[in-house]
Amino acid sequence: MRTSVVLFTCDLRLSDHPPLRAALRGGGRVVPLFVRDPAVDRVGFAAPNRLAFLADCLRDLDAGLRERGGRLVLREGDTVAEVCRVATEADADEVHMTGDVSTFAHLRERRLRQALQADGRRLYVHETVSTAVAPGAVTPAASDHFAVFTPYYRRWSEQGLRDVLDAPRTVGVPEQVDSAPLPERGDVSGVSPALRPGGETEGRRRLAAWLRSGVDAYEIRHDDLAGDATSRLSPHLHFGTLSPVEVVRRARGVGGAGAEAFVRQITWRDFNRQLLAARPEAATRDYRTRRDRWRGGRDAEADAEAWRQGRTGYPLVDAAMRQLRHEGWMHNRGRLLAASFLTKTLYVDWRVGARHFLDLLVDGDVANNQLNWQWVAGTGTDTRPNRVLNPVAQGKRFDPDGAYVRRWVEELADVEGGAVHEPWKLPARERSRTGYPEAMVSLAEGLERFKRARGQT
Ligand SMILES: Cc1cc2nc3c(=O)[nH]c(=O)nc-3n(C[C@H](O)[C@H](O)[C@H](O)COP(=O)(O)OP(=O)(O)OC[C@H]3O[C@@H](n4cnc5c(N)ncnc54)[C@H](O)[C@@H]3O)c2cc1C
Repeated sequence: MRTSVVLFTCDLRLSDHPPLRAALRGGGRVVPLFVRDPAVDRVGFAAPNRLAFLADCLRDLDAGLRERGGRLVLREGDTVAEVCRVATEADADEVHMTGDVSTFAHLRERRLRQALQADGRRLYVHETVSTAVAPGAVTPAASDHFAVFTPYYRRWSEQGLRDVLDAPRTVGVPEQVDSAPLPERGDVSGVSPALRPGGETEGRRRLAAWLRSGVDAYEIRHDDLAGDATSRLSPHLHFGTLSPVEVVRRARGVGGAGAEAFVRQITWRDFNRQLLAARPEAATRDYRTRRDRWRGGRDAEADAEAWRQGRTGYPLVDAAMRQLRHEGWMHNRGRLLAASFLTKTLYVDWRVGARHFLDLLVDGDVANNQLNWQWVAGTGTDTRPNRVLNPVAQGKRFDPDGAYVRRWVEELADVEGGAVHEPWKLPARERSRTGYPEAMVSLAEGLERFKRARGQT
């Protein structure tokens, strides 16, 4: 009987899992393997919120495998060395895994292929596991990737998606391969107090609830900060506890303007991945340089720290930053505003902000995070690179009653209505009683500085 190793990475599910199904074809045995690799910590990617969510995912995956007669094998160490070791112990001649787009993933895949080949084993890398459409599957005439979203979306929408695969009924795992103990969420310190649970079971529950009673209103409510009316599926898509192919197919099955707008957002995810696959250096370098000479030194660091702490004196920015710290997640409208404030109003390097987001976001993802930061900073694919979001105008538009700010900025919890967006207009005594910080910079000065830096004045 053939034995294969399935290396789980960003695909922590049993439903719609092409590598697992390929490994099990014809009734073979598999070793479902996850490697906790210290190299992930060394590149600064192992943040507490994601480690806690990962612990949930691994336990849920193990439980699902046990229901099918199998179990998850966890190893700690260098991924390549561990996969080769497990393949030898199980006498496996194939390894299956999901394709990924970062430099880290490319190098890992190349090293793994070489090491397995040297042992006479084969590596199969499967696409459309962590994206709906594979990176590079659609390209414009004169380039290896799309740099503008709208034409990408048009071509992406014309692609036929593969069928969704059921979870396997049984999974036979060779007995001789042992496992390290699975991590527990409780082992991780520094986790955001309101971090939500991970795992495929939870992801599928959330998806079903979203399609039943959220997606219809998505087009009109997705920017309503207080309404919290987006899917919150991003951590599940990041860890692969949900399949993007399945999510898109099921949303299309619901139909209507809400589902269409939702699928369009999922396309942004594939868009960023096809861009990073073609330009992996965009994780750290400007995709399009604007010759920025970002502010540095002590003043800039003090400003960045006030921003991280949610103490800029601009209530909507602070609300978003405090939501991030408390939940390990932030509403997209908050992300846009917080990133615009740091890179444009404060004129601090986008990499400083992207690092902080990666330290806290449970959905923190190299492609989506770095490229969205670049988009906002104007060094990425935004066709209006010098637009600057005004926190007061954004507040009046997307949090008109001020409920989102009151939820997160406790100093302002007693200020009624939209007045909460302009605390500097409160009567002096009331204002000082709140204890809320003064605005750290005038918006007009920030705008002037940015325009000068970008040669706009
Ligand atoms: C500065 C900045 C940093 C960001 N960092 C990340 C990140 O690290 N990881 C991440 O998954 N998303 C990131 N985003 C994109 C977006 O904010 C989140 O995907 C979204 O807020 C997640 O909430 P949701 O699942 O409720 O989204 P929904 O609005 O319900 O959208 C559905 C799905 O579409 C995808 N999506 C939505 N908007 C975007 C977008 N702009 N770009 C790419 N994919 C999108 C996500 O997978 C999301 O789960 C970032 C955006 C900005 C502006």
